[in-house]
Amino acid sequence: MSETFKGLVLRQEEGKTTSAIEELTLDAIPAKDVVVKVHYSTLNYKDALAITGKGKVIREFPIVPGIDLAGEVIDPGSSDLSAGDLVVSTGWGMGEQHWGGLAQYAKINADWPLSLPEGIDTRTSMVLGTGGFTAALCVIAIVDRDIKPDDGPVLVTGAGGGVGGVAVMLLSALGYEVHALSGREGLNDYLKQIGASEIIAREELSRESKPLERETWAAVVDTVGAEVLATAIAQTKSEGVVSACGNAGGIGLKSTVFPFILRGVTLRGINSVTAPRELRERAWAMLSEHITEEQLSLLTDREISLNEVAETCEELLEGKIRGRVIVNLEA
Ligand code: NDP
Repeated sequence: MSETFKGLVLRQEEGKTTSAIEELTLDAIPAKDVVVKVHYSTLNYKDALAITGKGKVIREFPIVPGIDLAGEVIDPGSSDLSAGDLVVSTGWGMGEQHWGGLAQYAKINADWPLSLPEGIDTRTSMVLGTGGFTAALCVIAIVDRDIKPDDGPVLVTGAGGGVGGVAVMLLSALGYEVHALSGREGLNDYLKQIGASEIIAREELSRESKPLERETWAAVVDTVGAEVLATAIAQTKSEGVVSACGNAGGIGLKSTVFPFILRGVTLRGINSVTAPRELRERAWAMLSEHITEEQLSLLTDREISLNEVAETCEELLEGKIRGRVIVNLEA
């Protein structure tokens, strides 16, 4: 294919990250096995850090950012896919050290893409994206620790965001009583609509905590880190699990060993980037089974074109986005 297509390209000039939409050719994309015509990508927290240059996400410039993509296989390379197959690919260093999904075409490794799960189209897969996929990984860690709905409420922090929102939906669909922590009072109705039974103000956990506090949570999905995570750990019930996946509130963690040695609490780290294929398939099957059309539309803050990516990233980092943003590469 010799014609040109559009892509967002990040460059580094005098130590600063710049972003611009450029006309690209397939030859310009570093070699990889499979060529995909991208239908949709999305903006995750990590994408916003990369595109604004506010976080050290990109390992090598120039690069097309975008840790997620969904689209149609044009050249299957050595993969077991066929031309025309619809696929989703998340993580694996795309948009970090490999060119990612925020261009109309992408080249990816043969073992990265998954065929779209039953009932999920390319758009839906990006409404969920790495955020939704990571929420599913957090929930799987709770289910696999044998935490049952009768064991008590489950706390989801950063519930107004992408990971938090999908975690609320999945947990409530699985019968758990979900308590949603949010810094935005205006989201109370939304959080109830997507499945939270109680809303907790961020300040209640964003404070210095005692080594052990009243046992409250059978499990926790934490997307925030820092003080919120420390307080959540101190409030986790005996033999409970805390799925820690994020740092939207900071990277620190000041805790003590008491929750672990006196209550048997498990702190379970979640890494979506290199999750193995079987786990990916299980997570996507969970999303496909439990997230409804209505929830997907509530979760979609907005659909944007490539032109709107840079400004939307600023809003995302300011915590102004509700749920998820998708990027339509065909718009
Ligand atoms: P979003 O920006 O969509 O959501 C983050 C939410 O965190 C916000 O909506 C807000 O929710 C809350 N928040 C923001 N700033 C603060 C703050 N200073 N203190 C406390 N809470 C805050 O991001 P994502 O959902 O995409 O990602 C959430 C986190 O998970 C990020 O840190 C991201 O890097 C991480 N992540 C990790 C992955 C992994 O593989 N481990 C994969 C995907 C994401 P509210 O307004 O409701 O309080």
